[in-house]
Order: sequence, then structure tokens, then C-alpha cells
Amino acid sequence: MTRPLRVFMHTEMATECEICGIRFDLVAGGACARCRRALCARHLHGSWVRRLLVDFGAAPICCECRLDR
Ligand SMILES: [Zn+2]
Ligand SMILES: [Zn+2]
Repeated sequence: MTRPLRVFMHTEMATECEICGIRFDLVAGGACARCRRALCARHLHGSWVRRLLVDFGAAPICCECRLDR
């Protein structure tokens, strides 16, 4: 897998997922309300259903925190 050139390094709204390390837009992902890690949408929500719940005001809890609930 080739990493894309970091053309948009100057954007303040992007950060790196603490699980997979990809750079993502903070609008797409976010911080887990329990472990406080910055995670991409895939690791924070896991599915579009969770994403929808968060959009409707549910606290974003990442996949790993939900597993050991
Ligand atoms: Zn990730
Ligand atoms: Zn978490």
C-alpha cells in the first residue's frame, strides 16, 4: 500500500486515527467520548448506523470501548 502524498498537511481540520494511522477529516471521524482517542469514522463508529445515531446526538463511543462495555 502506497501512502498518498501529504498535499494537505496544512489543513488544521485533519488528524491521524490512533488505531490505523490514516489521516482523516475531523468532520468524518472524531474523538471517542470514553477513551478520548482521535479515531477515523471506521474505528469510531464502525457502521453507518452508529454514525447516524451520533449525528442525532448520541455520544460517540468507539468500537473497542463498546466491546468491553
Ligand atoms: Zn482508523
Ligand atoms: Zn473508545
